[in-house]
Amino acid sequence: MENVPVWVDEKRCKGCDICVSVCPAGVLVMRLDSKMVLGKVAEVSFPESCIGCKECELHCPDFAIFVAEKDAFKFAKINQEAKMRGEQIKANGFLMPQEYKENK
Ligand code: SF4
Ligand code: SF4
Repeated sequence: MENVPVWVDEKRCKGCDICVSVCPAGVLVMRLDSKMVLGKVAEVSFPESCIGCKECELHCPDFAIFVAEKDAFKFAKINQEAKMRGEQIKANGFLMPQEYKENK
């Protein structure tokens, strides 16, 4: 993959929410999808905020999410807006909060 900080292999993703729960920068959300095993799949919705910490990749039990190497991608720095968005996503059951849907 080129020019993306983080990506999901949807065929492997079991929809467990773990990656979204450990992301400190509000990059990931769960997307509802009836075709998936648990009815949802991880999605990279705010790639511009990814800080490259690899928490998602390290915690995924299904090896379904991958982070670019530090020398292959210029990651963002963590900021308050990204942190807050992450908290709101977690508080919204790992789904995209309404206010962010409108801006997408
Ligand atoms: S941790 Fe892995 S399997 Fe679980 S939702 Fe994220 S990408 Fe999918
Ligand atoms: S590398 Fe870190 S900031 Fe980027 S999506 Fe994964 S957990 Fe979030």
